Order: sequence, then C-alpha cells, then structure tokens
Amino acid sequence: MKRVLICFVFATSLFAADQPIIIKAARLIDGRGGAVVSPAVIVVRGNRIESIGSAIPAGAQTIDLGDMTLLPGLIDAHTHILLQGDVTSADYDEQLFRESMPYRALRASRSAKIALEHGFTTLRDVETEGAMYTDVDVKRAINNGVIPGPRLFVSTRAMSVSGGYGPSGYSPEIIYPMGVQIVDGVEGGRKAVREQISHGADWIKVYADRSYFVDKNGQLSSIPTFTPEEMKAIVDEAHRLRHKVAAHAMARPGIENALNGGVDSIEHGIAIPDDLIDMMVAKGVYLCPTLTVTEYVAPGRGGVWARIPQFHHDSFQRALRKGVKIAFGTDAGGFPWDAVNEAKEFEYETQYGMTPMQAIQTATRNAADLLGMSDQIGTLEAGKFADIVAVPGNPLNDITAMQRVGFVMKDGAIYKRP
Ligand SMILES: [Zn+2]
Repeated sequence: MKRVLICFVFATSLFAADQPIIIKAARLIDGRGGAVVSPAVIVVRGNRIESIGSAIPAGAQTIDLGDMTLLPGLIDAHTHILLQGDVTSADYDEQLFRESMPYRALRASRSAKIALEHGFTTLRDVETEGAMYTDVDVKRAINNGVIPGPRLFVSTRAMSVSGGYGPSGYSPEIIYPMGVQIVDGVEGGRKAVREQISHGADWIKVYADRSYFVDKNGQLSSIPTFTPEEMKAIVDEAHRLRHKVAAHAMARPGIENALNGGVDSIEHGIAIPDDLIDMMVAKGVYLCPTLTVTEYVAPGRGGVWARIPQFHHDSFQRALRKGVKIAFGTDAGGFPWDAVNEAKEFEYETQYGMTPMQAIQTATRNAADLLGMSDQIGTLEAGKFADIVAVPGNPLNDITAMQRVGFVMKDGAIYKRP
C-alpha cells in the first residue's frame, strides 16, 4: 500500500515554529470522557496545543479536515518494535539467530513508522526480545529526527529466570542469545535493574509466569518464574530508582506473585481470578489486556492456546465490571506490524463490553496515566504536546474508524494528512 508521509523536516519547513497552525474538523473527542465537541478548532503553536475552540489568530495556516474527528495522539502501552511476529518458536528463533541487531534495528524503524502512521504517537515498548538495548537507539534516532516514529518509553531487555524464557530446546553445548536478561536471586534482580536503567530503560519488564495449562478445576494455571523475594527485590529496586514495573502475568501463580511484589501493570492478564481483580482495584494496578495478539496467535499455537481466547474474554469482562484501570495495549510485534493494524484492539475492547468512548480512553487518558505522562499527553488540552490524530466520521458510531487514521501530528509536526 502506498502511503503519503510528510517527514519531520518537510513538516517543519512548511510551518515556522512561531507561526500557529489551525486544525479544523467536524468534531473532537478530547480523551477526558466528556461530550463530543462539534465543530472543532485546535490552535497549535510550536509543539504545544495553544487553545481549543477559541478565536482563530490572524495569519494562521489552516488545515481543514472536513468530516473527521480529532482525537489525542493514541498510546499503545504494550508493543515490541524489534519483533516481527512470533506465532511459533521457529518464527522467534529465526529472528534471534539469523538477524543481526543492525538488521533488526532497521526493521524496528519500519515498525515505528507504521505505528505512527496508524495514529500511535506514543508507545510503551516492553522489551527487545534478544536485541539488547537497541530500543534505546531507536528512541534516540526518533528523538533526534533521524527517523519518524512515536514517543518511545522503552524497557530494554526484560527479565526472567534460568529456564524461564526462549529460545529453548537446543543442545546445552550451544551458546546462543536469550530473549531476555536471565536473572536469578535477589541480588541478581537488583543488579539487573540498575544495569538496565543505566543503559536507558524507562520501564522494567518482568516475566512473572510461563508454561500455561488448564488445571483439574478447569482454571488456567502456569509456572511462576521469580520467587516472591526475587520479585519484591526487582520491584523495590526499580521503584527506589523512580521507575515502574510491568509484569507479563497470565494466570494466578504469576499474577499473584507480581501483585504481591508491587508491580505497576499486569500485562495480558489472560485469567485473573476474582480475588486478584479485587487486589488490582485496591492497589490501583493497571491491566494492559492485549486482546489483539491473543486473537492473532492462538489459532497457530495449538494445545492450551485453543482455550486461551475464551479465558481472556472472560477475564477482561470481569476486570471491566469490577473497575480495574485498563490501558490500551496490543502486543504489536507479537503479530507482524504490517499484518494487523494495532487499532483493531479498539474493536475487540468494544466487542468484549466497553463503550466506544471507554475504549478510546484506554488509549488516551488511561495510558498516559499509566506512563505518568498525564500532564503532557493523552488528552487534547491547552498546554499539552500537540499530539493530534483524526479519523473519518464519528468513531463513537463506528469504532473501526480508529483503524483509518488519516491525519497524524506528533509534537507539532505533521506526519500524515488526507
Ligand atoms: Zn509482549
């Protein structure tokens, strides 16, 4: 598909920094959950929103988007820009064993561009899957205007224990790269946190469980990775260094250990028991559901995965009913970046019980809150970064419009327009 992209350099040459840009559209959803504003006018100056719906300054450049809806730049809080799909372990090992890190970085730059063109102006990228600290470099290239891409919050290598992560199944004589940093013991955990943060990690990502199975009571279960002491040490060290922790946790053994350890978000949460949902509400822990990846990978994985979508839908619905804070996350990279538009997640969220407005808020206000960035992004308000997207028609009437983003502005620069 041919895409029209206006690069950063071109965009800034069109509009001098001191010259305001007026963006007009039929309507606006500000991300705060209030009524749709119609018609809509946003004044952008430099990289900030100057005003919304007020008088238009004289001499300003105007972009009229017609029958579109303006929204805050979208946030995907669970991605892997350095991964290009891993339905099977063979797909995964291929990338780790046959692709150099420079090649993977080039592919990641394409992932970042695709995400931005889909309207995702911010990503929390939750580990490089064996590509070491390459995410820190991709982030630097984006921030320096070398390549187009979203604002990145990166978690570098992630952590699991010996035997807890792939690649696996090879002869013990072979030395090969792991998809995570292998961390054992309380001191090992603290040291890994310090190391990753010193190399540029914004978040710490842990894998709290693995090897999923259905137990004799018909519940999804798993094997936990870290001991409670290890988990607590990792979280304590991260928090001591003012960083948050995301935990991959699919079933009780992982989720319970992660919550007792004090993590800030539960990733996937495929089968969260009711008592742990209550604990998430009480502790204010976010759920990052990643419904899209489940739909994509389950059919190709077989075994217990045949039942995982059903567990996942049930868990999501119970979490929603009980008021767990939910932030939009897709696990893009777990499915190929060009195979599915990650905005498909909005469709799944509404299919499993959210209103369209609730779904939009997961990728705007909620995800910004998870990132600790509520004062800068996630809603359209004067003073915030000019991260603005537009979709055709009204997404409250047709949520699939979120997959047809036609206008993207990040940090005041235009990357896509009709
Ligand atoms: Zn993931």
